[in-house]
Amino acid sequence: MQKDIRVRYAPSPTGFVHIGNLRTALFNYLFAKHNNGKLVLRIEDTDQLRKVEGAVENIIRTLQWVGIEYDEGPYKGGDYAPYFQSERLEIYHEHAKYLIDKKKAYYCFCTEERLNAIKQEQQKQKQPVTKYDKKCLSLTEDEVQKNLQAGVPHVIRLNVIPGMTIKFNDFIRGEVQILSDLIDDQVLIKSDGYPTYHLANVVDDYLMKITHIIRGEEWLPSTPKHVLLYEAFGWELPIFAHLPLLLNKDRSKLSKRQGDVAVEDYKSKGYLPDALINFIALLGWNPKDEQEIFSITELIDKFTLEGVHKSGAIFDIEKLNWINAEYLRKKQGFELLIMLREELKNSKYSNEDYSDEYLMNIITIMKPRITFVRDLYEKGYYFFEEPQDYDFNLVEKIWNPTTTGILTRFKDELKIMQSFTKENLEEELKRISAELNIKKSQIIQPLRLAVTGTTEGPGILEIILLIGKEKTISRINRFLEKYQNNF
Ligand code: GLU
Repeated sequence: MQKDIRVRYAPSPTGFVHIGNLRTALFNYLFAKHNNGKLVLRIEDTDQLRKVEGAVENIIRTLQWVGIEYDEGPYKGGDYAPYFQSERLEIYHEHAKYLIDKKKAYYCFCTEERLNAIKQEQQKQKQPVTKYDKKCLSLTEDEVQKNLQAGVPHVIRLNVIPGMTIKFNDFIRGEVQILSDLIDDQVLIKSDGYPTYHLANVVDDYLMKITHIIRGEEWLPSTPKHVLLYEAFGWELPIFAHLPLLLNKDRSKLSKRQGDVAVEDYKSKGYLPDALINFIALLGWNPKDEQEIFSITELIDKFTLEGVHKSGAIFDIEKLNWINAEYLRKKQGFELLIMLREELKNSKYSNEDYSDEYLMNIITIMKPRITFVRDLYEKGYYFFEEPQDYDFNLVEKIWNPTTTGILTRFKDELKIMQSFTKENLEEELKRISAELNIKKSQIIQPLRLAVTGTTEGPGILEIILLIGKEKTISRINRFLEKYQNNF
């Protein structure tokens, strides 16, 4: 009978949530949902030195923001709650003790100095890996007890038998083999009494009945150690699936140095959570057709581990921008209006009072051109203020001996225009171009620059209609005053 599928997202609260962590959480979530399984959130907080204040809240907030719901874990109750490893120390100690009793693990009392000396010696001899020399394995039972009673600092180590081949199957990369000679007698319980990642992780995965371990490739080197632990306990192996590395465009590992890797940074830059999720879903998963925009329901429906490839996944920010723009275009005007009002509150226009109608009109004409909501007032700043400065290179490019005449003519006609409509504005353009015998573009270019300060953007007549007659005229005047004597 097929076991109920249970997966986990097991972050360590050591700082911000990395894009790679979010990808792991997402793939686990999609896999669980696709298979009617359960997703467990387990906080792996046994490393006292790396713990960061507020990191757990950040993890939970991030999952909430993107809509990844977990079935069991912190604040969710459940049979195995709470899922903070630091609250389960007893369990790890019992398990380590079990391995000691079975002679699969042993106490080690060696000092830091001795361990360092061994390491240095092995490095000097150019050994392929540096390993503990198993000295404490030969202590008698009496010696061990004496040391323990005397409170000599110690760790518990797994006794790794050399000369064996450790084998396991990875769902994504097939059979993996490694010689046990390359594996150190890993520490299971540290001298501070806390378990290592390896012990706590394996014990919890087993106790929490996790069927599939889906995690980043950087954990692949730990897996043989975990396999040894499963064997030492006599437990059946779960299915392992290691997700491909995330790479920059130049194929280097995605890292802080080359750009933002914290999910929070993407949030504050104005990416929509569903766009980010859509983008991240494609980092390593191939939907097998050309489709690129997926709702979360579609992702759940289509996601399989078979579709995950093993070659590194390139993090292409331009693609993310394109996806974000697509998501914005799919939004209703009023949704964008709410978002725009929210962002305006934190902008330099926060004290201005704009009508819904005005903002809606901006949204309608700018929607095809934005990547972020704030582009509405950043790219479209000319709807919110008059151009501060003109780029002199642009002015020089468009200016010719007819410019002053054309602009003066246009604004004079505008002044007396009876009804301020697009048709009338178009008529006016036509008339001026016929009378002065010039192309319409010769009017539009200086007009656009004078009114908006840029040569890009939506149709200039739409812009003029929106900002109104008076502002258009005063911007043309200002532009002429500034430059008519320069040329
Ligand atoms: N605590 C590890 C992390 O921070 C979990 C790795 C795993 O999934 O086993 O990613």
